[in-house]
Amino acid sequence: MPIYSAMDSPDIRYMRLALRQAMQAEAAGEVPVGAVIVDGAGQLLAQAHNSTETLKDPTAHAEVLAITQAAAAVGDWRLNGTTLYITKEPCPMCAGAIVLARISRVVWGMSDPQRGGCSRFSILQDEQLNHRTDYTCGVLEEECREVVQRFFKARRAAPQSQSAGAAADPYPDA
Ligand SMILES: [Zn+2]
Repeated sequence: MPIYSAMDSPDIRYMRLALRQAMQAEAAGEVPVGAVIVDGAGQLLAQAHNSTETLKDPTAHAEVLAITQAAAAVGDWRLNGTTLYITKEPCPMCAGAIVLARISRVVWGMSDPQRGGCSRFSILQDEQLNHRTDYTCGVLEEECREVVQRFFKARRAAPQSQSAGAAADPYPDA
């Protein structure tokens, strides 16, 4: 399967890059969630995947790592005008970071109605916060879900190979 074709919309094209990051996470034994950030001109500012196990850091979600990269790339913590693509709906921590970074738009694949920072907690559109982020969900949803389900299926099939830390994954409902 090609990474993208000329017929793909920009949202699908960038989500494929996020999916590629998710697959890198999968190869590293991480819960497979990937993110990319692009600026208003479509220039890629950041690519990252979930690294909580590798970095032994509960905050090392794909979105947080990508935001740090993008801020370094533009030399400013304000990321107005950028779009973040993420294979799974941001958790409450990441949704908070997205609002703090003033990211203009978030696009994700699979939603998380149980714990999602938007569909459960509405953080991206809260009137009491000083920034609101637009969002689009369901882009390449099937592919994004498939990579997560494949990961957990493999993990259930080989429970002895997993560390105790891996059991406390950051996306337990996936
Ligand atoms: Zn998160």
